[in-house]
Amino acid sequence: MTYLDSNIILKVVDSFKTDYKVQLSQLHSAYIDKSNVTKAEPDMREHHLTDSWRVYGDSLFDYVAVQLDEKLPYTSIQEIHPAKIVVDIFGATSNTNWITQLSSVKEIKNAWYEQPEDDVMRVIIELKHEQHWGYSIFYDSSKKLTIRIKRQPPVLNLKNLVIAVDAGHGGTNTGATGATTNIKEKDYTLLIAKELEKVLHQKKAKVVMTRVNDTTLTMPERIRFLKQRNPDLLISIHLNSSSRDTVRGVSTYYRYIGFRPLSMAILRSMMKAGLNEFGNVGSFNFSLSGPTDYPNCLVEVAFLSNKNDEKKILDPKFRKQVALRIVAGIEDFLKNL
Ligand SMILES: [Zn+2]
Repeated sequence: MTYLDSNIILKVVDSFKTDYKVQLSQLHSAYIDKSNVTKAEPDMREHHLTDSWRVYGDSLFDYVAVQLDEKLPYTSIQEIHPAKIVVDIFGATSNTNWITQLSSVKEIKNAWYEQPEDDVMRVIIELKHEQHWGYSIFYDSSKKLTIRIKRQPPVLNLKNLVIAVDAGHGGTNTGATGATTNIKEKDYTLLIAKELEKVLHQKKAKVVMTRVNDTTLTMPERIRFLKQRNPDLLISIHLNSSSRDTVRGVSTYYRYIGFRPLSMAILRSMMKAGLNEFGNVGSFNFSLSGPTDYPNCLVEVAFLSNKNDEKKILDPKFRKQVALRIVAGIEDFLKNL
């Protein structure tokens, strides 16, 4: 259901092996890993009333801030055509009769609420641009739920953007192995990531690399690092593997519908590198596609488990071509905006 900020209050109603079942509202429940939960003093009122909102911008972001009296759980989705961010706050009943909207906003077109259920308040934020550029949801010290919205960059050119590149696996996490040779996914994702870094630098983009050598990095470590760096886009590089050795080709993956255009543009461009289409895959539950903070795309370049694909991956010219095609895909994505 996407990420929660720290210190959100949850009502535990059942316990399974590794998870608690939590009641979000009368009609909604969810599961959370026990390692993410600590016991708190209960103040489990059925309803929490919302107060005024403020819709404003600073030099970097737009914000919608909703005053609450408790750090209630929430979930969010992206809608397209028109682009909207929809945030459901569980356990909240609207008592809001005042939404101050300042002219410092640049990306928010409209913000309002609905009350789809007695104890679920829905925040709806309509964006000015068609493309989603990401958002973060957190509480401030006064229990204000804040949705911080990334604006569309004013100049859509690689030299004005920060591109994060993640080389999959690394260190003790070796990933897949070659079909005929013993090559490891972690080594070839890094080689492709470095080619990609080179091409992006030639385009004068700023590049943020999650790793540049054979280090072990957990997914939470990668995510914390990326969130700190606040990139405009993230490209994750992996090599695919299947139990059927005839399966081959390129695929790109996204989790949130608003980030699909980037993965579509990269897939189309990659297919020009002579790769079969394995497909564009949505709702994909990959850790690095989980954050909503920036558009992201997982590229599974080709299948290490297929002899023909493996041969390509072993060829430095092919890896260079992959880097060029990914960058061309990003440029197509920017042009289409
Ligand atoms: Zn992988």
